[in-house]
Amino acid sequence: MLETARASAFELSDEQKQIGALAAEIAAREIAPNIVKWDREHFFPRELYSKLCAAGILGIIVPEEYGGVGADYVSYALAIEELAKVDAGTAVTVSVHSMIASAINRLGSDEQRRYYLPKLASENSLAAFALTEPDAGSDASGVRSSARHDGDGYVLNGRKQWCTNGAYSGVIMGMFRTGEAGKRSISAFLIDNDLPGVSVERTTEKLGIHTSNTCDLAFDDVRVPATALLGSEGDGFGNAMAALHGGRIGIAAQACGILAASLDASVKFAGERVAFGKPIGAFQGISFKIAQMAMDLDAARLLTYRAAALCSAGEPFVIEASKAKLFASTAACKHAAAAIQIHGGYGYTNEFPVERYYRDAKITEIYEGTSEIQQIIIARSLLGKIDT
Ligand SMILES: Cc1cc2nc3c(=O)[nH]c(=O)nc-3n(C[C@H](O)[C@H](O)[C@H](O)COP(=O)(O)OP(=O)(O)OC[C@H]3O[C@@H](n4cnc5c(N)ncnc54)[C@H](O)[C@@H]3O)c2cc1C
Repeated sequence: MLETARASAFELSDEQKQIGALAAEIAAREIAPNIVKWDREHFFPRELYSKLCAAGILGIIVPEEYGGVGADYVSYALAIEELAKVDAGTAVTVSVHSMIASAINRLGSDEQRRYYLPKLASENSLAAFALTEPDAGSDASGVRSSARHDGDGYVLNGRKQWCTNGAYSGVIMGMFRTGEAGKRSISAFLIDNDLPGVSVERTTEKLGIHTSNTCDLAFDDVRVPATALLGSEGDGFGNAMAALHGGRIGIAAQACGILAASLDASVKFAGERVAFGKPIGAFQGISFKIAQMAMDLDAARLLTYRAAALCSAGEPFVIEASKAKLFASTAACKHAAAAIQIHGGYGYTNEFPVERYYRDAKITEIYEGTSEIQQIIIARSLLGKIDT
């Protein structure tokens, strides 16, 4: 049994366990043999998503009536974690995709649900999220891309930065300004990627998650019908934030997966590597690092599953999702670094996977709200909004 096996006191249902096991099995079979090459070549494994789609992984949280599995967010978190143990890039691809599917399910019209959800759950179409711009990151209210009324629809113009899945998506949830400055004049649209005027401007080279596609998208006079609006005009900022609150459960789970992989690799290496006549795990300087990793992994998982369970139950979960993401991402970065230290010089080479975990972990502290933004959300829930 792996050292990172879940403590049995936290009872998972049979369905939750099965979905986690299914994701683990696909990751072991389809990703593990290829990940070193894919990571080195910055390869986006498009074919893998046909397999994940066929297995139901792309539609875990999509209701069955739209071709999905109709499972809960704990099952979803378990699947993301299992993928991330093998490849954090695959995990974020599925996580962002699922974030959009969830947003369409919660915020979309019946027509949008009927049109998009079967595509995302069972027809192997991926989804992307386009909020960030060069001058609008943490302060997303700075969006400048515009949606101008034109007849019975809109014309979209602007540039969106660092869109995960952008080059491979069938649909993009994009935030555009339908009025003057301010949050209340931003609107969300569902945009088919093959519309005239939508193009990939640049693919981004990154420190890690090399199997994840990140690109800048250009929108040049893209005409969309009024039915492309997700929710009401002016609700786009709130709808984007609502999507991100759910998305943070996925990123927390991704961080848990990286942390679990760091722990497994460290336990194995500490048992095998001999120095001064003993396995290095016999030295407290090493074993205490492993104890801290195991404890933080348990805590990160419990925070993540709690946020996921609240989300599934329709209870407030925003603060819990921020706590889960903040804790799990901080722990993943700290312990991926410790895993390299435990591996010594070998850890710094690409002969062992821990250098990849270290590169992959860092982004979990940045996207879908940086660690500083998570702390603002948590502190405001206690202190209210204090003007300085
Ligand atoms: C690989 C990758 C994938 C991404 N995928 C997507 C995607 O799919 N869709 C999308 O829309 N975006 C995506 N992003 C963008 C990502 O969400 C933003 O990078 C992130 O929100 C931070 O914005 P920023 O980079 O502009 O940093 P900034 O907002 O400029 O922040 C810079 C620093 O200042 C800090 N800071 C900012 N404001 C405050 C404050 N009020 N108090 C304290 N500190 C503060 C930040 O925490 C950070 O440390 C992606 C980014 C990357 C790198």
